Amino acid sequence: MLENFGTEKQENLKHSAAFIGGIGGLGGATAAYLASAGIGKLVISHAGNLTESNMNRQLLMDINRLGDPRIDVAAENFMKINPDLKLEMHNVRLNDDNAKSLIKGCNVAVSARPNFPERMAMNKACVNLGIPMIEAAMDDMRGYYFNIFPHETACLNCFIKSDVSDWEELGFGVLGAVSGTIGCMAAVEAVKIITGHGKPLKGKMMHIDFMNMRTITPELRKDQNCSVCGSK
Ligand SMILES: [Zn+2]
Repeated sequence: MLENFGTEKQENLKHSAAFIGGIGGLGGATAAYLASAGIGKLVISHAGNLTESNMNRQLLMDINRLGDPRIDVAAENFMKINPDLKLEMHNVRLNDDNAKSLIKGCNVAVSARPNFPERMAMNKACVNLGIPMIEAAMDDMRGYYFNIFPHETACLNCFIKSDVSDWEELGFGVLGAVSGTIGCMAAVEAVKIITGHGKPLKGKMMHIDFMNMRTITPELRKDQNCSVCGSK
């Protein structure tokens, strides 16, 4: 019943696959909404077991399953949302050796791991494969996302060249609703990219300061000398 969406775009979703790098507070929201929207397949990577500290944001999890692999808990809940969904779950951290083979064949990828090495590996794989990637992240009361259309718009490596040294994995606060909001926005972009419904954000970053409810959308310039996507 969405205006101008119709059966054709719904079928489009059904025959599409999305890769989700991380199903924490952010990627978990993206994955759940793509599952409920009727996407055909989700390929997910997420390493680690469920801890109590995950529960303030990870809605696919279950307090009764502490200590279990998060991909197992999530898989059971995906089936409750959409039993027709094809699932491929990988309890691994992404790196340059495995990212490409995991993402290959997907129509879109969502980068939602809380560390730079996995994001960088995803970025490189998506640029090499020509698969659009949604780079989405949050930290405390801030969040952002931008879409990477390989060789058309800036990639992550165009402006973050290596690990950010003063940044510590999981060394930041999370209000679950902030990570969920950014995750939902990433799901909206994924649906748009897959179906061609509406215009995805292009060449710009959506940055939200939730503390003061200010949004900015700075332009992102492609670095022609970028070692991942540059033409020189
Ligand atoms: Zn680049």
